[in-house]
Amino acid sequence: MPRHLHTAPHVARWITLALVAVVLAAAAFGAVRLAWGGSTPAGTDTAAALPAPAAHSTTAAAGTPSATGPTASSAPQGPVDPRTGRHSTLDGLVPDFTLPPVENGLAPVITRIPTEQKVVFLTIDDGAVKRASDLALMEQHGIKASLFLAHNFIAGHASFFTAHTAAGFLIEDHTMSHNLGFIHLSYEQQKAEICGMADFEEKNFGRRPVLFRPPGGPYTMSVQRAAAACGMKAIVDWEAKASAGRMDYQVGHALRPGEIVLMHFRPEFPADLAAFVKAQKAAGLKVVLLEDYLGVK
Ligand SMILES: [Zn+2]
Repeated sequence: MPRHLHTAPHVARWITLALVAVVLAAAAFGAVRLAWGGSTPAGTDTAAALPAPAAHSTTAAAGTPSATGPTASSAPQGPVDPRTGRHSTLDGLVPDFTLPPVENGLAPVITRIPTEQKVVFLTIDDGAVKRASDLALMEQHGIKASLFLAHNFIAGHASFFTAHTAAGFLIEDHTMSHNLGFIHLSYEQQKAEICGMADFEEKNFGRRPVLFRPPGGPYTMSVQRAAAACGMKAIVDWEAKASAGRMDYQVGHALRPGEIVLMHFRPEFPADLAAFVKAQKAAGLKVVLLEDYLGVK
């Protein structure tokens, strides 16, 4: 059949084109599904209601890290931890510590993780000084930290810290007003300070904080109760700090495994970070996110 023979290549060409279109559409659809799948766990129950710049950037990092700019260069890209829904900084390490639950309405307090595993946790507070170069420094060292930010330091500038969340840092609760007499406030005032900041961070960063650090560090049972009432899984203090360009230890003269280190966004940030990195390397510890180690969202 000449006619059939004549039309067959024509039909075949159209079928090929149609198949190519279907494959391309499927690939695009798959990428979209992957993007949504990557963003849902980290955003938990609020992701749908929020623009969530953090979740969006995490998604980008998971898909095409090279296309997301320098700040995402060291964003975690390993497998997603089912406990947290995040790309883990643990690098396969299985933590040997379990965070105690809230008991009798009181959030547990940790100042160091009691472990011999070679890990150290960096926490950076307040948010007073805001320089992209400080984030770049941490990126150069491949360090992620938990940021305990207070509203009075970041009000009007919260978007500055979306670069941090895009790079895999997590933002935690450090009250609204950073009142250094925090333990003398009433329970209701303490609760308003903690819950208010949790609401603010959830709205601005797309993730509700789960850790709380009282201004200056002191806490009472009332603070533990208020923190738990606001959904905090733990109060996090410290036993070592990097400040004024050097390390200070409450115990011993070096970083120990499981140490929680306090730092601040201050003018001397580069010197403080250098002191921390030197101590961390000397102690042979890996910097991992406290939230990853604790397995909290
Ligand atoms: Zn502070």
